[in-house]
Amino acid sequence: MQQKIAALFKEIHGREPAVVTRAPGRIEFIGNHTDYNGGTVLGASIDRGVWVAVAPREDAKRNFFSLFTGETVTLDAAVSLKQTDGTSWINYPLGVIAALPAFGLQAPQGFDYVAMSDLPTGAGLSSSAAIELASGLAFLAITGQHADRETLVKIGKHAENHFVGVPCGILDQGVSGFGKANHLVFIDCRGPRFDTVPLPGDAHFWIFNTHTKHALVDGLYAARHRECMEAAKVLGVSLLVEATPAQVDGAKGKLSADAYKRAKHVVEEIARVDQTVQVLEKGDLAAVGALLTASHRSSQTLFGNSTEELDFLVDTLAATPNVFGARLTGGGFGGAVMALASADFGDAQAQAVADAYEKKYGARPDILHMLTGDGAQVV
Ligand code: ADP
Ligand code: MG
Repeated sequence: MQQKIAALFKEIHGREPAVVTRAPGRIEFIGNHTDYNGGTVLGASIDRGVWVAVAPREDAKRNFFSLFTGETVTLDAAVSLKQTDGTSWINYPLGVIAALPAFGLQAPQGFDYVAMSDLPTGAGLSSSAAIELASGLAFLAITGQHADRETLVKIGKHAENHFVGVPCGILDQGVSGFGKANHLVFIDCRGPRFDTVPLPGDAHFWIFNTHTKHALVDGLYAARHRECMEAAKVLGVSLLVEATPAQVDGAKGKLSADAYKRAKHVVEEIARVDQTVQVLEKGDLAAVGALLTASHRSSQTLFGNSTEELDFLVDTLAATPNVFGARLTGGGFGGAVMALASADFGDAQAQAVADAYEKKYGARPDILHMLTGDGAQVV
């Protein structure tokens, strides 16, 4: 990819790039809807990502090209408004530029830019965070500036929240920024505080993307958020992370039936994240897998953000040899299931799962096989 993007840059802009960067996509490993409750989450940075090549220009022109659309868009450096037409992908690098001053950093002026990716977009693997972090690193490099990882992560999140307008939590950018091959990224969302946890060797990720999406998904996220905050209020805490499972059970009579179930999921899920870290330290992938599947069951029965299709995939995968565990990954209400499997699980088994799904639902999930990979870096 590194040679490919340099060659593409030359083809488009007629010269060499000054810097090439790369940032990975991510998988939510465990910790479902824990972030806005102040909890913890584990994510995996994957071996697919977005590459960005940039070279500064003498003038104030910014020439953006991505294979994503295949066309060059030129903007003047004075233009910092959100793009609303077919070139809206530019809002990711533009949002990063707009965020830099908020962190005491200088925005670049004119430049030539190329982005390239081996990460499917909109598949729940956070290509958006990857393009933000790769762009951020490239813009810092061409302006001779440096930022630590945490600042880079916050710049990407700021771009996505305030410029693009997506209210994502810290997971996406945090994992893309702090990722490390053969490790998971642990995030305590309250700090936020970032750490890495070694992942034993024989850990393969398989994503089954159903491409299903609940029609009311935005409203459902908002309802879950509201129910969690309502439960925290009744429990007398500012965020659910401050409540124990025993406290939630003790307050069952005071909480609405839904608020009780949501709170129970959140506090038990946070405990599962901690348990996952503990069993990872022992290298026990079977125990990790059991926690992953337990997380799914909790989403299914308590948090109410699974679907029949996702449950079918988890049931099928959990009964398949060489699969440690499986769970919905991301917001839920459709989307994708992640399976953690050993090297003995291969494409034939994955296709058999997709066959069973297709027979039942008349559509085939996309299958992606991934390993972990390093976090955002200049390459
Ligand atoms: P996800 O982050 O799950 O992949 P999003 O909708 O948050 O989905 O982000 C996808 C968007 O990010 C794309 O629609 C596009 O605007 C932008 N994007 C991602 N990768 C690239 C790329 N290589 N080139 C240009 N834009 C990209
Ligand atoms: Mg995204």
